[in-house]
Amino acid sequence: MAAETPFVPVKLKCPFCETESVQRYIKSRMFQNDIVEEDSHVATYKWENVEFAQIRPNFYHIWHCPNCHLCEEKEIFRGEDNSGGKLELIKEKLLIYSRMPNSLITRMGLVIDFTTDIYSIDSVIVAHLLAIYEQELLSPNMRQFSRLARFYLRLAWLYREKESLGLPDSKLPDNYATFKDFLASFHEEWPAIPLDEPTALQVALERYQDILNHASNGDVKFEINVMNLIIAIHRRCGRNAEALKMVRGVFTAATKARQTARAAIQKGVNPGPNQGILNFCAGIIDKSTTLSEELGELVFKEEFPAAKEAITKLGAIDPNSVADKLRQLKFSEITCRRVGKMFEKQGGKK
Ligand SMILES: [Zn+2]
Repeated sequence: MAAETPFVPVKLKCPFCETESVQRYIKSRMFQNDIVEEDSHVATYKWENVEFAQIRPNFYHIWHCPNCHLCEEKEIFRGEDNSGGKLELIKEKLLIYSRMPNSLITRMGLVIDFTTDIYSIDSVIVAHLLAIYEQELLSPNMRQFSRLARFYLRLAWLYREKESLGLPDSKLPDNYATFKDFLASFHEEWPAIPLDEPTALQVALERYQDILNHASNGDVKFEINVMNLIIAIHRRCGRNAEALKMVRGVFTAATKARQTARAAIQKGVNPGPNQGILNFCAGIIDKSTTLSEELGELVFKEEFPAAKEAITKLGAIDPNSVADKLRQLKFSEITCRRVGKMFEKQGGKK
């Protein structure tokens, strides 16, 4: 008997152009996430059946209409639109551009081949780029931050996988030497096209920051999860000082939420959910305390030589004002305090 396949083909009509096509998703009960990196990237999956070990479920996240080149998540293809009319605006533009043979949408869209069960990473990368490009057809204030944040982060993961798994380029259109050359050819029409992991991560971070800046519903779990992703991205990009600042932000947010939840419990307001928040915050406070110490050491090591040099350059200085001087020079708080203390102890000797 043939082994059960993990693919579920779905025949459905495109919500934009109504062309029928077959899309796929993966049966989630057939695999488990194995190694998950800090920024939620699943580095390895554990399959029930080792025959499927090469399949990467994240490749099946974005669906693609072969006619109008709509690239979106399956919910949109199934007609679950919660964009408040924004999708209609994208549709209008997409239906025009996808009929133009030389438009970016047509040229990219024609490269995507989702006709067989196994997708090439290049097709998947292009599908993610188009999903981003199509969302960015909206003016900046109309765009859905959470969608874009997710798409950019997932794109960064794909660039990472292409490198770390050594996935080769697939057949390229128009005699381009490499897949990257092909993507770079869109630079003129799309100056900010993200062509590598660091660029995609940076934009993901900015969109997650947008989510935080616009968060208004007071859902502390959601906000802290977003902040944790931002920390992970900063760390991945080697910006420990920025990560440390955000860790402090997480600590403050969790401490505040804990106080609010405690007060509510004392008044007998929603004791169940508030106890849940208390437990959640306790875990977060523990974790951010440890992470803050770990990052603090790293940041201090990184900044110490420059801080010492800056103080030496200042010449004669009151040892008690060293910390403040360093704060003015935008050093991290941990560096200001530690170097400040060193100078206080030495009584100004350098
Ligand atoms: Zn379509």
